[in-house]
Amino acid sequence: MSAETYHAIRCDQRTNGERCGEEWGHPVRVANHRELRRHLKDRGWRRTRDGRDLCPKHAGHKAA
Ligand SMILES: [Zn+2]
Repeated sequence: MSAETYHAIRCDQRTNGERCGEEWGHPVRVANHRELRRHLKDRGWRRTRDGRDLCPKHAGHKAA
């Protein structure tokens, strides 16, 4: 198995039944998803208590 893995997180926000689909992915050298999430948190992403990932646009900021 390769040590370098492509990790990607996708926004799970749905509006009118349509998924936002905003994706943050980067072939970064992170050991696991937890490390990637810390990375994302620094960039405004958020993980909800029910396990959804939200892009900075939907991470609790008021809609523009
Ligand atoms: Zn989004």
